[in-house]
Amino acid sequence: MIYLKAEEEIELLREADLVVARTLGELAKWVAPGITTRKLDKIADEFIRDNGCKPGFLGLYGFPASVCISVNEVVVHGIPSGYELRDGDIVSIDCGAVTPDGFNGDSAYTYMVGEVADEVKQLLITTKASLYEGIAKAVPGNRIGDIGNTIQTYCEKRGYSVVREMCGHGVGRKLHEDPEVPNYGRRGTGPMIKNGMCIAIEPMINLGSKNVVTEADKWTTRTRDRKPAAHFEHSIAIHNGKPDILSSFDYIKEVLGERFI
Ligand code: MG
Ligand code: MG
Repeated sequence: MIYLKAEEEIELLREADLVVARTLGELAKWVAPGITTRKLDKIADEFIRDNGCKPGFLGLYGFPASVCISVNEVVVHGIPSGYELRDGDIVSIDCGAVTPDGFNGDSAYTYMVGEVADEVKQLLITTKASLYEGIAKAVPGNRIGDIGNTIQTYCEKRGYSVVREMCGHGVGRKLHEDPEVPNYGRRGTGPMIKNGMCIAIEPMINLGSKNVVTEADKWTTRTRDRKPAAHFEHSIAIHNGKPDILSSFDYIKEVLGERFI
């Protein structure tokens, strides 16, 4: 069941996504060699609460932390730990925040830690660009498959592979609502895109093969070949005939300046 949102509901989602965007911006100040991912989780948790929301992921399906922090070959759902970030790592942080009214924000960004190998940097640039390519297809009259097909084509043409096991989703009072928004697929297939639809689009793109495995903790999902993976996510509303991006990387950009990709 796909819930189309009214104007007021879209604005409440925008509030949630603003807190997420600002949290990702705050984290950009801290991502550096030597910091533990557990410390980053704590910073995110406090920042979200200081801004009037609750962490959207803590306890959801039993997840044990406030944000997902996925380093290098970990694609998504990494659990914050005592691991200290190292020069050359990449770290994907997926952040959720829930407003007091119960609306969910959801956005993710892959940060570079110090100096990163050029081939890995190119993976990040491509993954982020594919997100915007996909968003551009989120217009009334298109279908959900048009988004996935665009992301897949964009990334595969550049030699990367698309994770199949996880996908984007509708977002609203629940973090995960219908429809599923895969990052692959065929044009002209899937649900029709309509005004009022609110979805999170989140390409998970691998440098090597598309295959992933989930670790014994039942959360950490990494590439089978242990090559790096990138993850960028925006929440959007289809609003007045256009994709309206509710989340933002602008706060990250403000912090990173020329290092922003
Ligand atoms: Mg997310
Ligand atoms: Mg999501």
